[in-house]
Amino acid sequence: MLTQIGGIIWAISFGAFKIYKSSISRYVKILSFLVAYLLVSFFVVPPIAKYCGRVPLPIMKSGSLIPHNYITPILNRRYVRPKLKSELLSISNSINDHNKRLKVSYLDANFPFIDGFPLLPHLSHNDGLKIDLAFYYTKNNTEGNLKPSNIGYGKFVEPSQKELNQTQLCKSKGYWHYDYTKFITLGSRNDLEFDLENTKNLVRQIVNRSSTQKILIEPHIENRLKLNNNKIRFQGCHAVRHDDHIHYQIE
Ligand SMILES: [Zn+2]
Repeated sequence: MLTQIGGIIWAISFGAFKIYKSSISRYVKILSFLVAYLLVSFFVVPPIAKYCGRVPLPIMKSGSLIPHNYITPILNRRYVRPKLKSELLSISNSINDHNKRLKVSYLDANFPFIDGFPLLPHLSHNDGLKIDLAFYYTKNNTEGNLKPSNIGYGKFVEPSQKELNQTQLCKSKGYWHYDYTKFITLGSRNDLEFDLENTKNLVRQIVNRSSTQKILIEPHIENRLKLNNNKIRFQGCHAVRHDDHIHYQIE
């Protein structure tokens, strides 16, 4: 459920050791499973996924489109349809051409195979058409791809007293899970400022593209962006709060 293919490789690798009744230690078995998993993930899955209609997003930090962390590619959570990849590259190249300090940082996308197979906990990331992107932040007024949360989720741009507090509203309706991503940051920092200007530019570039179906974002962030575009929507209380990332999907 975490990687789509990990369980299959686990079954094959431990099945093989059982058949040959080898006396190899448990640690060597686990190590050989991990090596097999990585080799399959990085060399076997991409060409098969491409044949099935999904392509992996870049891993190298030198490009304009980068993973927020390496957990995403290692867990096979970076696959999209070719159309979405070309849209993302075109957006990230445009942003990077304009300001070399900025790249587009992606979070969870989709698994490599099978339409309808959800990338938990994102139920809708199941067809190669959706991806989550990181906001921009500044430190001491200097912009960049800075990370308030190591995992990319769970460190929120909180609403002010005057803004709508959607989290309070959803939780008061019984949606207790609405902000549970705060427990899975894998480490966070408090010294960064939300970069409204560059995040707004990213959202503007996304909604201006004809292939964009919608983006999902928290209402108080939408108000701050002042873009008045009907492709920008609220995700609903059944999902989780979106004031830590942008959900972007194409048609
Ligand atoms: Zn999403």
